[in-house]
Amino acid sequence: MDGSCQPVLWFTGLSGAGKTTTALYLLQRLKEEGRPAELLDGDAVRAAICRGLGFSREDRMENIRRIAYVAGLLSRHGVLVIVSAITPYREMRELVRRTLPGYVEIYARCPLEICEARDVKGLYAKARRNEIERFTGISDPYEEPESADIVIDTHRDAVESNVERVLQWLRDRRYAADWSICGR
Ligand code: ADP
Repeated sequence: MDGSCQPVLWFTGLSGAGKTTTALYLLQRLKEEGRPAELLDGDAVRAAICRGLGFSREDRMENIRRIAYVAGLLSRHGVLVIVSAITPYREMRELVRRTLPGYVEIYARCPLEICEARDVKGLYAKARRNEIERFTGISDPYEEPESADIVIDTHRDAVESNVERVLQWLRDRRYAADWSICGR
């Protein structure tokens, strides 16, 4: 690592917790400031570079490994990366933390009942009808983060204030000067 790499702001949380909603607003704020930034969204990534991967533990691990690989490339070349992916297992998050020097874990915390009531994509209803196997929170575990760098409560706080908290976290660590995290 020669000097600088950019933060990888990695949103983890249940489906419907608000990862993508928050990530998109954060991306917009960064773009307004003229920062090179890119969003790797779990659903889009699955369609683009992870087709054929399912939801077994191994496939989920492989999915996350691929996202981390692309995030690492971007991060080392001056692009701030935002990732929105459930990332349900502790083992995955530990792997990503070890792999990416710029990793910042953001836990989008929201009670399962609320995610299920929102049911943005109708997936919880399908999972309850057993039409989807291994659905996180219903028939596959979500292992709650114990050492997230930032926790946002999306059932309580508005998107704008959660994004402001993330930006403030970066400013407090003086990453806002050139947003470089590595090589310090
Ligand atoms: P995820 O990416 O975690 O699956 P989404 O962002 O796709 O979740 O969906 C979250 C849903 O919750 C959206 O419909 C969003 O409008 C709604 N929502 C309500 N309040 C909030 C909040 N404070 N933060 C984020 N999303 C919220």
